[in-house]
Amino acid sequence: MTHPGQLLKQRELYAGKELGQNFLSNPGMARLIVGKIGISKETRVLEIGPGLGALTIPVAQAAFHVTAVEKDSRLIPLLQQELDSENVENVDILNKDIFKVDIKEIANNRKLVVIGNLPYNISSQILIRLIEERTYVEKAFLMFQKELAKRIIAPPGGREYSRLSAVAQYAADISFVTHIGPASFFPKPDVDSIILKFNFLEPEDFNKEQEKVLFDVIKASFSKRRKTLKNSMTGGGDREFKKEMVAHALELAGIDANRRAETLTVEEFKSLARAVLEIS
Ligand code: SAM
Repeated sequence: MTHPGQLLKQRELYAGKELGQNFLSNPGMARLIVGKIGISKETRVLEIGPGLGALTIPVAQAAFHVTAVEKDSRLIPLLQQELDSENVENVDILNKDIFKVDIKEIANNRKLVVIGNLPYNISSQILIRLIEERTYVEKAFLMFQKELAKRIIAPPGGREYSRLSAVAQYAADISFVTHIGPASFFPKPDVDSIILKFNFLEPEDFNKEQEKVLFDVIKASFSKRRKTLKNSMTGGGDREFKKEMVAHALELAGIDANRRAETLTVEEFKSLARAVLEIS
């Protein structure tokens, strides 16, 4: 692995802040991460933001195939050069924005393992996208800013429990993989990072349409998190929830209308969504 600083210098490039470019520069850490992912020669990987290939190369050496989606066209020749220098031939590089690729097409009737040292400014949106597309994704290993990772795995009842926690915990079994300090990156970020593993769950009792209602209920409930459910749910989200309907749904679900969203378990959000579906 060539040091990212040296590679960028070769082409007089710089790391772009707007694309969250903090490249992994510690080969020992890259090997440790890949060891924890547990890839086999049957695994098909989708990597989000391969950058200069710090993870791409060891992952491709262990996997059947990697599709690497990188938005920054300046990095593509450097990434290809790094792959060539290690004789890695099972990587398709797509010079695209991850939000503009068709994950179903990449999966091609097989489930993917997704990996990504994500740009921190879009990591929540990427997680939501993967949750929506989880029919094509078996599991994902994603790196987040430490504070966001803690919010994602936070249990109900505390300040860290949020819309993203409830949606992610509904869609996946989530576990902590490893912590990574700033010294493992170039340039060094100001924050610590955590890798989380998501074992995605098949939606058992909600179809796609019903799941959309569940996600809207969660979004609306957290739209004014300091307010009680009877007031927060009517105020926000993508769907309009009328006051009388909210009161009726809460009663049907057996949830006290004076509770706040941050106290509801995923199971309670599911009951509330079922009640909303029953009424409407
Ligand atoms: N995986 C590399 C590593 O660990 O060294 C690079 C990680 S860097 C934190 C994030 C990478 O995501 C950068 O290469 C950046 O250009 C790329 N990126 C940023 N936004 C993207 C997007 N919307 N779609 C695809 N790649 C993106």
